[in-house]
Amino acid sequence: MHELAIADSIVQIADRHANGRRVTKVQLKVGHLRQVVPSALAFSFELVAQGTSVEGAELEMEEVPVTGSCRGCGVESRLKEFPLQCRACGSDDLRVLEGEELFVESLEMEEV
Ligand SMILES: [Zn+2]
Repeated sequence: MHELAIADSIVQIADRHANGRRVTKVQLKVGHLRQVVPSALAFSFELVAQGTSVEGAELEMEEVPVTGSCRGCGVESRLKEFPLQCRACGSDDLRVLEGEELFVESLEMEEV
């Protein structure tokens, strides 16, 4: 259940940025390789947010697909499924360019 740890750091980041204001929405970017279960993350987020300025905020997740560059032939493939293989030559020796990110993209806060 690594979603709980992720939710915890998201809430900490949002709470720190809020600086006393109430957070209404948190937008996240989640790379496909993180293998986050959205429902589990949403649940953990609600749990961890209780009693903070993030309590009751909407959590929006945008999944980033995996993009890999083949070390063999140099072709870039965009992949949505495992196993990660080059679309051109079938090699699994890929350098991951995108898909490992996990960060807070933006926060919406109540106007004071
Ligand atoms: Zn290739």
